[in-house]
Amino acid sequence: MSLTRRAAVLTAPGELTFREFPLEELASSDAWMKIKICGVCGTDVHIWNASDPYPWAYPFVPGHEIVGTLTHVGREFPKVDEYGVPIQEGDRIVVQAFTCGRCYACRTLMMPNLCIGTPPWANRMPAMIGGFGDYFFVPGEGPIFRVPDNLPTSEAALVEPFNIAIGAVQRAMAPEVQGKGNTLGPGSTVVVQGAGTIGLLAAIAARLAGATQVIVIGAPQTRLDICKALGIDHVINIETMTDPRQRLEAVLDLTPHRLGPDTVIEATGVPAAFVEGLEMVRRGGTLVEIGHFIDKGTIPVNPHLLCYKHINLLGMWVGPPANFGVALKLLSAHRDHIDFSRIITHRFRLEDLEAAVATARRFDSMKAVVIPESN
Ligand SMILES: [Zn+2]
Ligand SMILES: [Zn+2]
Repeated sequence: MSLTRRAAVLTAPGELTFREFPLEELASSDAWMKIKICGVCGTDVHIWNASDPYPWAYPFVPGHEIVGTLTHVGREFPKVDEYGVPIQEGDRIVVQAFTCGRCYACRTLMMPNLCIGTPPWANRMPAMIGGFGDYFFVPGEGPIFRVPDNLPTSEAALVEPFNIAIGAVQRAMAPEVQGKGNTLGPGSTVVVQGAGTIGLLAAIAARLAGATQVIVIGAPQTRLDICKALGIDHVINIETMTDPRQRLEAVLDLTPHRLGPDTVIEATGVPAAFVEGLEMVRRGGTLVEIGHFIDKGTIPVNPHLLCYKHINLLGMWVGPPANFGVALKLLSAHRDHIDFSRIITHRFRLEDLEAAVATARRFDSMKAVVIPESN
């Protein structure tokens, strides 16, 4: 048994240091998980230099796309996961451990992604916990999901971004949206703006939901090549097709009657893309905005577009926790014909975390992951 754990601590914007902490004794309802892998998210890139509005209190340990193995399991820790699958020490799991399950948002609104409460286990949580380290706290309250045996750990690291991508597709498929004309489902045409991990996974989720034509608009070409390899029908490179009007024409040419796509999923983090999406989507279509979890400023919008086009305009704040399980099921069930492994383009050791974040910042990677050296 290790007596200490390591973590990458951001002490101030852009100031990273590695620290050792004692491996604290936990309550009997809890466990530690030894981190096998943690993905670098676009959000990590932004918070590195504090360019986002989250109330991060320094110091903290970043990293939230975590897969690990259960260790130091307490006596009263659950014996089964969220789906009733037996779990024990040594099993690979993912956890969604940031909602309370009992506040107004969690229970009455049934929207745990908007949780306003404090998780009941928060006062048991050890100091300085995040995915860029070698251990992560697992509260027994869960939800906890066992990683299916056929799914490699690196692919399981896609669960967190996939949970957001699935949430966007579910949002567009909601009955009140579908009632206004099938905008995402069997036979639909979907444009995803953004060729990063979330954009690509949203395109895949749309395909799995029945879309027959899926178009990804983004850059660089290396990312678009991965999109093509994973079955996306058409890609449009914004570095070679730089004029938004040209891109609009290209998309209209691809859609029936040049009406435009039934659904647009905006996943770029560039405010101008939102306006481009509104101009692209067909009349009566749907636009889901999942590109701006970070405040990137304002952009002029003509509200007439919303009326004239009768657009279903949907926002989304992170993903419902239950989608961690959905993401695992989809990754496990479809990996024989969708090569998810190609999404993981760069691997770094924990001590090279800064290089991992720099790679993600330069868009060199599709998904960079950090693998603690001790694993
Ligand atoms: Zn993320
Ligand atoms: Zn809550």
